[in-house]
Amino acid sequence: MMTDAFIGLGSNLKEPAAQLARAVSALATLPETVLVAQSPFYASRPVGPQDQPDFVNGAVWLSTSLLPHQLLDELQSIEQKHGRERLRHWGPRTLDLDILLFGDQVLDDERLTVPHRELPNRDFALQPLLDLKADLALPDGTAIAELRSQCPDNGLRKLPPADYP
Ligand code: AMP
Repeated sequence: MMTDAFIGLGSNLKEPAAQLARAVSALATLPETVLVAQSPFYASRPVGPQDQPDFVNGAVWLSTSLLPHQLLDELQSIEQKHGRERLRHWGPRTLDLDILLFGDQVLDDERLTVPHRELPNRDFALQPLLDLKADLALPDGTAIAELRSQCPDNGLRKLPPADYP
């Protein structure tokens, strides 16, 4: 059975837009998985410590027959291959991949919380989700558009496609 999974991407080190573009290519070649669509990229101010570069964020829509934890394994493998560096909590990182939504599944264990715990507080995740699917909703029926309208603004700027590598 194929499930629609929405993945958030973020980077603020080493040419972030290039990091994201490479990550999208890697996601497109995952086993048992099809890349349905890719959102525009956005620049946003960092969450937490402000003495670090702006982030570039985006999201992709996958259709996959992988199980949620298998997909997480694949995302973590891409993060490692792409030289993820993480200097401190909420600090700069080369590549961060999160499962934002996995069909209508609700999961909460030591490795995986889905929908992603911070989703309602992150305009840089909500906006790309809306770009991908305007009528997307949480498993409990809450519209992503509703969450976006209530979310604090973090200085999101859509990057023109010419800024992508
Ligand atoms: P971070 O690097 O801050 O994104 O945190 C990575 C950790 O979050 C990993 O150890 C994952 O097991 C855990 N995690 C929990 N829920 C999720 C999710 N929905 N997507 C990705 N990682 C998750």
